Amino acid sequence: MAEQPARKAPKAREAGVVRTERLTPHMVRVVLGGDGLDGFAADEFTDHYIKLLFGAPGVTYPEPFDMARIREEFPREQWPTTRTYTVRAWDAAQRELTVDFVVHGDEGLAGPWAARARVGDTVRFLGPGGGYAPDPAAAWHLLVGDESALPAIAASLERLPEDAVGHALIEVESPDDEQKVAVPPGVEVRWLHRGGRAVGEALLAAVEGLDFPPGDVHAFVHGEAGFVKDLRRHLRLERQVPRERLSISGYWRLGKTDEDWRAIKRDWNEQVEREQEDPPAAA
Ligand SMILES: Cc1cc2nc3c(=O)[nH]c(=O)nc-3n(C[C@H](O)[C@H](O)[C@H](O)COP(=O)(O)OP(=O)(O)OC[C@H]3O[C@@H](n4cnc5c(N)ncnc54)[C@H](O)[C@@H]3O)c2cc1C
Repeated sequence: MAEQPARKAPKAREAGVVRTERLTPHMVRVVLGGDGLDGFAADEFTDHYIKLLFGAPGVTYPEPFDMARIREEFPREQWPTTRTYTVRAWDAAQRELTVDFVVHGDEGLAGPWAARARVGDTVRFLGPGGGYAPDPAAAWHLLVGDESALPAIAASLERLPEDAVGHALIEVESPDDEQKVAVPPGVEVRWLHRGGRAVGEALLAAVEGLDFPPGDVHAFVHGEAGFVKDLRRHLRLERQVPRERLSISGYWRLGKTDEDWRAIKRDWNEQVEREQEDPPAAA
């Protein structure tokens, strides 16, 4: 019998923090660099993401760091914990990878890590993955998200052709959390302020009230899973946006760590599909 090829292990890279910048009260930018980024590429999509690896407390992994070996030799609870972050920018010439982190308090791994990050700190990551870039042939673009999707929305807006038409609706906590994003003249960017309301409430109302321009839309909708589900229902069932023109997913779930969210994400998505793609006929 032919020998089975060994399962290809994801290659982890190590990068160093070259500078940080507090963009707004709730967003910190971390720029990574170093030899570990040799050969990295993230140009195809505007929602490219990497998976940061945070080692289990008290565990020392063998060098050279090898995820396949760790998965073989260490019990699952000692594997590094992953956190997914968008590639806000990749500058191949300078070999610099920019990641914007929501600062959401003291809970969690990645947000607090970024808030504390100092020049010279190192971090390992897997990736990139990705799947969306605005289709230049679309009649118009719709981009909707909370702060966690802002890096991907901003990267997407920067990629739009000069004659693009569209609406970007971005929810942040307060006016101080708005960022400057360069957009073509036909694209409206609307900042919505949560101001104590539930996450996504303002976004849902704004999309429901939006006058959709005519023609084929290409949509990107991401953020907290609860409002993303409500928006998906609206876009699929009321606005009849075709599935293949909709990049939509819950990036995080209120009250759940990322590993708790990932543990239920598949069931959640299946339930959303059942409810929204095959809704029971009205009595
Ligand atoms: C493809 C993809 C791309 C992403 N890109 C980015 C990105 O560029 N920037 C970014 O900041 N996030 C991004 N996210 C979301 C990020 O992965 C999650 O927010 C993650 O849970 C943060 O990890 P943590 O260790 O800080 O908090 P966790 O340990 O996961 O959670 C701790 C607590 O904080 C809450 N929490 C987590 N995220 C937020 C938030 N954004 N706002 C308020 N409360 C929160 C949780 O519900 C939980 O109660 C992306 C997610 C995906 C799937």
